[in-house]
Amino acid sequence: MTSPDPLLEITGLRLEAGAADAPARLVDGVDLAVAPGEVVGLVGESGSGKSLTMRSVLGLLPSGVRASGGRVGWDGEDLLAASEPRLREVRGGEIGMVYQDPSQALDPLMRVGDHIVETLRLHDPRLSRRAARERAVEALAAVGVPDPARRSRQYPHEFSGGMKQRAMIAVALANRPRLVIADEPTTALDVTIQAQVLDLLRTARDELGTAVVLITHDLGLVAEIADRVAVMYAGSVVEVGPVGELFSDPQHPYTRGLLASRPHLAARGAALPAIAGQPPLPTGRPPGCAFHPRCPLAGDLCVTDAPLLELRGPDHRTACHVPAPEGALR
Ligand code: SF4
Repeated sequence: MTSPDPLLEITGLRLEAGAADAPARLVDGVDLAVAPGEVVGLVGESGSGKSLTMRSVLGLLPSGVRASGGRVGWDGEDLLAASEPRLREVRGGEIGMVYQDPSQALDPLMRVGDHIVETLRLHDPRLSRRAARERAVEALAAVGVPDPARRSRQYPHEFSGGMKQRAMIAVALANRPRLVIADEPTTALDVTIQAQVLDLLRTARDELGTAVVLITHDLGLVAEIADRVAVMYAGSVVEVGPVGELFSDPQHPYTRGLLASRPHLAARGAALPAIAGQPPLPTGRPPGCAFHPRCPLAGDLCVTDAPLLELRGPDHRTACHVPAPEGALR
């Protein structure tokens, strides 16, 4: 654990779908802790369970997906057991959400400023509409929307893509949340706007002490902003550690495969390098280590026994039976 008092502490999270007697295990025993003010990159191929893991924090699982075990500790409370009214308080109040597609957060029929007004008043009903409007204008100004008073009265379709992204971040930060979950926030954006979004998240961390979980496939982004990285594969965290250490001394063969093409790390927008083979479907996970069909180091034990996430250094854990070869990446 990163801190004796993590803000968010997911332990043993299991998410599944399908028939109860033969479920597809989508997330399989994830542990993840986030300290106050920390930026954690959650990395993995599509379908690895990273977005589902974080959606479970907000009680926003897609229909048909259910939590079948574990705990989502939020400041001492288990959000998996929280009521819907309590989750509504958490969403947008204590935890903000930034999406890849701003239309997930912005209602096309609602003026941009009203999104912020509604969010503020939902979490502080005593706030007058007039005061909330003033704060909405301030919030838009804080994320660099020019002429914010006028723009607050416009509809989302009157905003460019980059401005919509800023507006969504203004909504997410309106209540000064303690944590922002950013799900692929820059994937569809050009490089200039990517840099601006990154700066806004960094400013939130530096000025408000907001913790950030950045869900991404972009290793360059993680290298640039994260304090720690958790790598997910086939529904499990296979490696987690401080960003510098994990990038310079990765312990898991999957992480080493992802990082094998290091020059890409210099560039934002670098997608995960290809690793031979495909990740298994949740309905067809192999026994033992789920990575063994793709792993160059797989041995007999890997085919039968799933490795546990174990310490390989202070605050650096890996789930692999085989120690990393010395200087594996150098
Ligand atoms: Fe490869 Fe075995 Fe380690 Fe899995 S446990 S990553 S198959 S060496």
